[in-house]
Amino acid sequence: MSALRVRFAPSPTGYLHIGGARTALFNYLLARKEEGTFILRIEDTDVARSTQESTDAILQAMEWLGLSYDEGPYYQSQRFDLYREKVEQLLAEGKAYRCYCSPEELEARREAALKSGQKPKYDGTCRDCTDLPAGRPFVVRFRTPREGSTSFNDRVKGPITFQNDELDDVIIQRSDGTPTYNFVVVVDDADMGLTLILRGDDHINNTPRQILMYQALGYPVPEFAHVPMILGSDKARLSKRHGATSVMAYKEMGYLPEAMVNYLVRLGWSYGDEEIFSMEELIEKFSLDNVGRSAGVFNPEKLLWLNAHYIKNGDPRRLGELLREHLAAKGIDTAGGPDLSAVVRTLQERSHTMVEMAEGATFYFRKDIDFDQEAVEKFLTADKEPVFKTIIGHLEACDEWTHEGIAAAFSRVTEETGLKLGKFGPSVRVALVGGTTSPSIYEVVEVLGKDESLRRLKAVLEMLR
Ligand code: GLU
Repeated sequence: MSALRVRFAPSPTGYLHIGGARTALFNYLLARKEEGTFILRIEDTDVARSTQESTDAILQAMEWLGLSYDEGPYYQSQRFDLYREKVEQLLAEGKAYRCYCSPEELEARREAALKSGQKPKYDGTCRDCTDLPAGRPFVVRFRTPREGSTSFNDRVKGPITFQNDELDDVIIQRSDGTPTYNFVVVVDDADMGLTLILRGDDHINNTPRQILMYQALGYPVPEFAHVPMILGSDKARLSKRHGATSVMAYKEMGYLPEAMVNYLVRLGWSYGDEEIFSMEELIEKFSLDNVGRSAGVFNPEKLLWLNAHYIKNGDPRRLGELLREHLAAKGIDTAGGPDLSAVVRTLQERSHTMVEMAEGATFYFRKDIDFDQEAVEKFLTADKEPVFKTIIGHLEACDEWTHEGIAAAFSRVTEETGLKLGKFGPSVRVALVGGTTSPSIYEVVEVLGKDESLRRLKAVLEMLR
């Protein structure tokens, strides 16, 4: 095991979205590659916005993606005693102070600052107060140094420096006694011994504030790596406007987790011009050196392309299980129907999602198939009666129900009737599947099985009469 300790620290205020999943994945890959430790921490200090439902959704999504963690989940809501102790420590050492300015006073000063063209920040009224009003509500602010600067060498973005006088005296404890994000994240990242903080670059402005708090609390400062945001095709920050942003929505839409992982990793990381990576390959090849500095653009077509690739090359048994779930979601019971792996084999070349595969597989399991009326009118015409009789006869006589056996039965039909397969094939297809698109007729006949194929053909023969 190496000393590397990284974490994913989601706030449970919604589902796991594409950006969060990528952050989790990058942390996971680094930890596995370097044989370090991957920690999951649920940042639920905002009691009003955090829900158990969101926590469960995040845990499920991580499991679906295969992102296992070595420690946690830790819950910040269970660590308030530690935070309170650390606030007291900073107060006692004069590194934080109580601020009694009321929200109204602060708002008035903010407006005045904006009017005079200044950047609004806390003016320091309570910074050096000694006559503390007893019994009045207060917040606790961090005493940010007014001079000097704070620098760090970001592992993705390179060296970054902030002037300390641009940083506010941030609130670390609210008037209701609850601690704030910037403070608890430092206490936890230090207490949990994290060595690298890899997160989205929307946190980059927080980093100098956090570094100053590490120093004030006497903790070693970890390394930082900020990965660029993910944008939609219009270059605006990725949002619902650009399609589903919840990782699990993609599961429902019939995406495979390996396609999602492969897609997510390429949003910001590259390895030459290779596109297809298994998790094992990623663990071997992933490195921060190849994480780009510019934002990744979410491209649903590419995700779909990767999904089709993984479906095409997937294990039919496993895909069969997924197909069963997707068919069940459509109210279709697969019990007693054709073998699911066999069904998958007839459709995996042509399906982009498991939902599409389930649509294509429906006819195998429906006893009364849904006929497309236009196809019926075009292909199931009375003149087809003799050829249907001949087909039924040869299929009944076929006792080797394999691709070859079935092909031979159909050649006998062409010989006997003098008709090419192209003349009656489409009619057979409509009779068996209800419409004009399906896997090849021989495959369909083979997978449906002898009894069911004959049952369907005979039913149509009745209809033709
Ligand atoms: N809980 C924070 C968020 O979901 C992440 C904190 C961090 O990575 O430092 O944005």
